[in-house]
Order: sequence, then C-alpha cells, then structure tokens
Amino acid sequence: MPELPEVETVARDLRPRLVGATIVGARCSWARTLRTHDPVAFADAVAGRRVEAVGRRAKQLVIELSGDAALTVHLKMTGQLFVVPAETPEDAYIRLVLELEDGRELRFRDIRKFGKVGLYGRDPITGELVTEVGGGAVFAHIGPEPLDPAFTVRDFRRRLRKRKGRLKPLLLDQSFLAGVGNIYADEALWTSRLHPLRTAATLRPPDERRLFEAIRSILAEAVERRGSSIDDYTAPDGDGEMQERLNVYQRTGEPCPRCGRPIKRIVIGARSTHFCSWDQRLPARDRAGAKAILRGMTGGTRRRGPRWTDLEDRSARTQRTKRAAATRRAAARASAGQG
Ligand SMILES: [Zn+2]
Repeated sequence: MPELPEVETVARDLRPRLVGATIVGARCSWARTLRTHDPVAFADAVAGRRVEAVGRRAKQLVIELSGDAALTVHLKMTGQLFVVPAETPEDAYIRLVLELEDGRELRFRDIRKFGKVGLYGRDPITGELVTEVGGGAVFAHIGPEPLDPAFTVRDFRRRLRKRKGRLKPLLLDQSFLAGVGNIYADEALWTSRLHPLRTAATLRPPDERRLFEAIRSILAEAVERRGSSIDDYTAPDGDGEMQERLNVYQRTGEPCPRCGRPIKRIVIGARSTHFCSWDQRLPARDRAGAKAILRGMTGGTRRRGPRWTDLEDRSARTQRTKRAAATRRAAARASAGQG
C-alpha cells in the first residue's frame, strides 16, 4: 500500500496538472469508492468548484477546492490517479472520474476497489477538514508528519515514552506517526539496528535518536526517488525507483547489506516483517512475549533442511509477483495514455 513517499509523489505530479482547473461533473461506477456521498450527490457537490491546491496528509491525498472544501483520496492497495483527455478510452477499472472544464478528466483507477474518496468541508475557525454529519475533524486521530521541519527528536521522544508497545506495530500506528507503513517501518528499524519486536520502553536516548533520524532520512530519500514501485503503485509521471534501494523489505533470505547474513522474515500482527537477526538484537527482557512470533521465522538457517526449499519457493514466488506487478503498472499507464 502506498505510504508517505508514494502519496507525496502522486500529489506533486498532480499539482501542476490540476491546480486552477474547474470541475464540471463527476461519474462514479463503484458507489463504495465514495466515502461521504452517493454518486449523484457527489457530482452535484463538486461541480463548479476549482482546484486550489494538491497536498497530502498521512497516506491520503488532499485536493483543496474552492468554497472551503477538499477531496481526500486514499489509494489503499491498488488505487491510481491519472489526468487524461476526455476522449481517452476508459478501461474496466476506472471507479471515479472528475470531469474538468478544459476537456480533461481526473480518473481514479482501482483494481481491488479498496480505495476511498471523500468530500469534506473546512471549518472556518479551526481550518480543519470536518465531516458533514457530526462535524468531527477528518484527521483528528492522525499523528505528526515525520518530515515536518517542526517535528523534532524531542517531540518524537515524548510520544515514544508514552507508548509501551513493540516498535513495528507502533511505527505502523497512524496515531503515533503519520504516513509510515510496512516498507519504511522495516527499513527504518534495520537502519537504526533495532529489532522489530523490541518494546519502546527499552530504548535508550541514543536508540530513540537513531530511530528518529532513520525514519526521516529514509522517507526523505524515498520522496526524492518517487517512492517504491511495488505492487500497483505508479504515479502520473511514472514509477518510483526507491524499491532498488531497500535493504530488507521483501528481501527474505538475501544477504544483509551490513553483515552478509540472511535477512529474516517474521509475521507481526498479520504483517510481514523483514530484518537482520544478527544486528537487530532483541534485549532479554523483550524475549519472553516474542517467542511464539520468532518460532515462525523464515529466511534461512545454517543447517540444510526443508526450510531452504521453502525459501527457494518463496523467492521464486516473490520474483513472479514482482514481474506480474510491473506488467500491471505498465498496463495501467498504457490505458491512461501515459505508457
Ligand atoms: Zn545484518
């Protein structure tokens, strides 16, 4: 699923295409894509509004509209956005289209249909996006943006010290920190040499600082490289290249770039987690509750046995999955006239 760098890239690509454009209508072929309106009410509510800005909050795109409103787009597993001339043929996966006055269209393409689009108003006093019913702030429960220059290691420490959980699920928790998902959590933990099952309470001040700096530098580099084109993620100006720079994510069994030992994989809260068990050590006091998870660890052992076969199968499967995803991305771009 696209994380902070991928969504930021989509926002940057869309900005020059959309800012200043006026929406004249909308078509929706999958009503559940819309979070807040039915298709007819949505078309009525967006018609006549001008796009004033395109930004991002956490893993969602925020398209600011005239009249104190904004659209949020959550790409989820397979969501893609393209701006094309209206005459471009539509494939079967286009769920929502915003028709623009100048003869172009913003198309939301989403194979798996998990993506969500919402239309919200802006509270004139707080400036926050709010829901129409209840007036609750849309991003009320989202933590700070890790790349915000105002976000400091002191803020990070303060938040960390209020938490008792293990690091991997904590980094994925959007109320703790905005925009980090499975890819960049694994990479940040490897870079800062912290075990994904380590608890926040065992971190010493230098560990906290290393983690803070790793999160920031990895996300910043990923934004610069247009994100990681894994699965269906692609952006209007093309794929990212951060996937080439990842050290552990989806590299189970490959040598750790730091020590050469095989990268291991465990499953924490149904999410695959990739790490080096040699240089991301688990302190004794965190081992007790981690045993069951660590028993399921894959990624090669010193003795030869059935696990090696598992690993070869997994690696072949990973390669096949990557090739299939690249084919799907190319098809998406071709169908959007941007191949
Ligand atoms: Zn290592």
